[in-house]
Amino acid sequence: MLYRFTSEQLWGSDARMNETTDEPSSLQFSDLGLDARLISALDTLGFEHPTPIQAKAIPPLLNGHDIIARARTGSGKTAAFGLPLLERLKDGKKGARVLVLAPTRELAVQVTDALDSLGQNLSLGSVTLYGGASYRPQLDALRRKVPIVVGTPGRLIDHMERGSLDLSGIELVVLDEADEMLRMGFIDDVEKILAKTPSDRQIALFSATMPKPIRRVADRYLSDPQLIEADVGAKSTVDHVRQRTVVVPQKFKGQALVRYLRGEEREATLVFSRTRTGCSEVVEILMQAGIDAEALHGDMAQAARTRVLDRLRLGRVDVLIATDVAARGLDVEHITHVVNLDVPDNPETYTHRIGRTGRAGREGVALTFVTPRERGRMQWMRKVLGAKFEDYALPTDAQIALADQTRFIATFKVENDADDALDDAHGFVARLLEEGLTVEQVAALAVQAAAQTAGVSLSRSHSTELPDWARPPKARPERNRRSEKSGRKNQTERAANEVELFIGAGQKLGVRPADIVAALADGTGIVGKDIGRIQVSDRSSFVGMSRETASQILDGRSVTQLRGREVKVALARPSRYKGEKRTRRPNKTRVPSRKRGSKGRQGR
Ligand code: AMP
Repeated sequence: MLYRFTSEQLWGSDARMNETTDEPSSLQFSDLGLDARLISALDTLGFEHPTPIQAKAIPPLLNGHDIIARARTGSGKTAAFGLPLLERLKDGKKGARVLVLAPTRELAVQVTDALDSLGQNLSLGSVTLYGGASYRPQLDALRRKVPIVVGTPGRLIDHMERGSLDLSGIELVVLDEADEMLRMGFIDDVEKILAKTPSDRQIALFSATMPKPIRRVADRYLSDPQLIEADVGAKSTVDHVRQRTVVVPQKFKGQALVRYLRGEEREATLVFSRTRTGCSEVVEILMQAGIDAEALHGDMAQAARTRVLDRLRLGRVDVLIATDVAARGLDVEHITHVVNLDVPDNPETYTHRIGRTGRAGREGVALTFVTPRERGRMQWMRKVLGAKFEDYALPTDAQIALADQTRFIATFKVENDADDALDDAHGFVARLLEEGLTVEQVAALAVQAAAQTAGVSLSRSHSTELPDWARPPKARPERNRRSEKSGRKNQTERAANEVELFIGAGQKLGVRPADIVAALADGTGIVGKDIGRIQVSDRSSFVGMSRETASQILDGRSVTQLRGREVKVALARPSRYKGEKRTRRPNKTRVPSRKRGSKGRQGR
C-alpha cells in the first residue's frame, strides 16, 4: 500500500536544493517527462510533488544511466526507480524485462505492490518470486511473460536453474537495499543472477546506507555510475527519529520492556530481538503483562508472516516482536516506536531497524537497551553514526499508573459515545437509584468494575522510585555496585579453582570423551556434570574440573583403567590451564555440553 506525504513533510522546511530543481516544492512530476498515464496514477495516489530522491534519480534513470542512489529510509525510493522502470515498459512488450532484487520476502512483496499501484493505468503484469511461497502462481505468471520480476535471490536462482526464468531479455536491474544485497552471503547469488543478464543492461543501486567497502564492490558491476544522494548530507539518515538508550541488565530486559510499553504514549511498536527464540519468549512476557504482542521471524511459515504483517498494517497488532526479517523496507505508517532489545551488530542494521518508525514524514522514537557490558559498543555506534542520543530513564510505577489511567479515560469516552445499548444501562441505573444508591455510588462502582476488567489501578499512591535495576548505573545503590564487583571477584575465584587432569592416553588408543567420563566416574562418586571440557590429543587427554573433584578422583591413585589398559592419571601442570585461552592445541575434541555453565548459553 502506498501512503501519501505532504510536500512539507517530504522536503522538510530546510530542504536543500539540488541540481535537478531550483525550487523543490514547485517541481512537478510532469516536469520530469513522465507518461500521462503515470502522472494520472500519481494523482490518484495523491503524490503531489517528487521527493528529493525522485527528483534526482528519475532523470538519469530515464536517460539510461547506471546509478548508485543513497537516500533516507522512507523517502520515496521505490517510486524513484519504479517510475522510470514503468516508463521503459510502457510499449507493452512481453517477457522478463526489468528485475528488482530485494533482500527479504516482505520487501519484495511491498515493492511489487508499490509498482502495481504506480503502474495501475498501464496493465503490465508483475510477479514476485520469493521462497516459502507456492511455485504455481509464480510459474503461471512467468509463463504469461510478465515484464516486471521482483524477487529474493534464493528463489530467483531456483527459477533460473529450473529453466522457468529467462533473464536474457532484462533491460534494467534494480538492487533495492543494495548494501545488504552486496554483503557477503548474498554477493555470490547476486553475481550469479547478474551474470545471466545482458552485459548492456542498466543497473540501479538503492540504499539508505552505503559503506565504502560495499561501494567498491558495487562499482565493479556498474558502468560509469552516477552517484546520487538526497536528504542525507552530513546528517544521519534517521535524524527525524528521536534516539534514546537505556542501560538494562540482561535479566531485567523483559520487565524493562513492559515498563516502557506501559509508560509510553504510542501506536504500533516494533521490538527487535536478536534471536527467534528471543521473540517468542518476549511475546510470552508481554502477554502475561496484559500487552497484546505477536512474533515475526524466519522460522514462521510464509503465510503466517504475511498474516502478521497484514494485521500490523490494519492496526490489529499492538506490539510486534521481530528479528531482522522486519528491519528492511517495512513501510507501516503508524509504527511510532522501535525498541532494540540488544545493541545491533553494526550501524547499518541499527539505521535500518530504527528507520521503520518515522515513516511518511512523521516523527518516531527509538529506544535501545544496552547491557552494562554493551556500553562500549554503543559508544562506538554513537560515534560512527554521529547521531544525537538521549539517555532515557524508564518510567516509575506512578508514571505507568498515570499513563494507564489516561488510556483508560480515553477508552471510556469513546466506548460510551459509541454505545447504543446505553439506554438499557440508563434504565438499570434508575432501578439502582430506586434501591437507595446515590449517583456517585453507582458511578464509582461502574468505574471500579471497568478498571478491574481493563487491568488498570485507580490508586493515586504508586511508587515514584524505580527499582534498583532500573535506575541509571550511577544512581544504583552502592551495595549493588559492590555486589557487581564481588560477582567479578567470585568469577576470578572460580577460575582459580579450575584445574585439569592429565590422562596418559588419547586418540591413538581410540579413546573417546565418553570413555574418559566412564573411567573417571567409576567408583569415585563423580557424575558427568562435575566434569568440564575434555580435550583428546594423539597420546594424551586433558579434562577440566574443580580442584575438589580432581582430588576426589585422584584420591591417592596415579593410574586408571581406559579401554582395557592402565593409563597414567595426574594433575596437569598449572601452566597448561592457566594459559589455556592463549594456547591452541592440535586435535582437540570439545564436548561443549559438558562444559560448566554452558546450559545458559544453549538457550539463546
Ligand atoms: P519508500 O521510501 O519507497 O518506502 O516510500 C515511503 C513512503 O512514501 C511510501 O508510503 C510512499 O507511498 C510514500 N511516497 C513516495 N513518494 C511520494 C511522493 N512523491 N509524494 C507523497 N508520498 C510519497
